[in-house]
Amino acid sequence: MSNIEAEPVESRRGGLGDGGRSTQAPRVDVLSPRDVPLGGPRAMTVRRTLPQRARTLIGAWCFADHYGPDDVGETGGMDVAPHPHTGLQTVSWLFSGEIEHRDSLGNHAFVRPGELNLMTGGYGISHSEVSTPRTTLLHGVQLWVALPDEHRHAERDFQHYVPVPVRIDGVEIRVFLGSLAGVVSPVRTFTPLLGAEIILEPRAAITLTMDSGFEHGLLVDHGDVRIADTLLRPSELGYVHTGINTLTLTNESEGEARAVLLGGTPFEEEIVMWWNFIGRSHDDIVRAREDWQSSSDRFGTVEGYAGERLPAPALPNATIAPRRNSRR
Ligand code: MN
Repeated sequence: MSNIEAEPVESRRGGLGDGGRSTQAPRVDVLSPRDVPLGGPRAMTVRRTLPQRARTLIGAWCFADHYGPDDVGETGGMDVAPHPHTGLQTVSWLFSGEIEHRDSLGNHAFVRPGELNLMTGGYGISHSEVSTPRTTLLHGVQLWVALPDEHRHAERDFQHYVPVPVRIDGVEIRVFLGSLAGVVSPVRTFTPLLGAEIILEPRAAITLTMDSGFEHGLLVDHGDVRIADTLLRPSELGYVHTGINTLTLTNESEGEARAVLLGGTPFEEEIVMWWNFIGRSHDDIVRAREDWQSSSDRFGTVEGYAGERLPAPALPNATIAPRRNSRR
């Protein structure tokens, strides 16, 4: 997915207090989404919860777009022309529909529900993403992972993995990155990460053992899901600090609920994010933009996409400031 950035929004504090008094329930910060049009001739709108003013990262997760269910017959679906990435990995996870992926490594793949597609941009890669004619409803998440400095120029790569779902007490879990509920994803990451889809039957509850060194975010797709003491509505992201050993999720709705649980060790480096690039300085971004605009070998070429590649937007006049998470 290609990022045409807008301005951040609000967050509210959930739970029963600030956690200073009670050690029973972890504090949950509720991050609300903002609507962002993806651009292009038939723009699809996504709900973005990361990054925003209150929070840049959860672990190395630095970008979270949630979209659909989108009636492709009405909106035209997704059609993102070839565009570059550097310094990050893209994680595509669908609930319904199908996306055709082509990248400058020569991969031609289909993103399908319940299947992880992880692309490592490293120093540079480019790709296109188009929903297929078979798709009626397009529904899923597009996530980015920031690469740590020592690996941010890693080899381009593309991995596909289909997790086997585990079922516990009316809850179905698909662990696509990291480990949860006794299930371990074999997919390699550059920092400790967790990524899992969780589907809860009506009124189902589960208490999960968590890595206390991780911070976590629960993005609710549909249903009302209580995380610790805080009720999350659809499209909200509940953030939980490090230091917890267990986390209880409860589906408070009469129908099924679905959420995506993200986690990782806090990412301590400052990053500079602009368009589809992550660097460490303004100059990194300027160089990446120049390399894309001049069609340098850095990002390669996407074969088979019907149409032109996306030009980079104009750089801002000011120096792009680095972002990091405030310590709270
Ligand atoms: Mn992309």
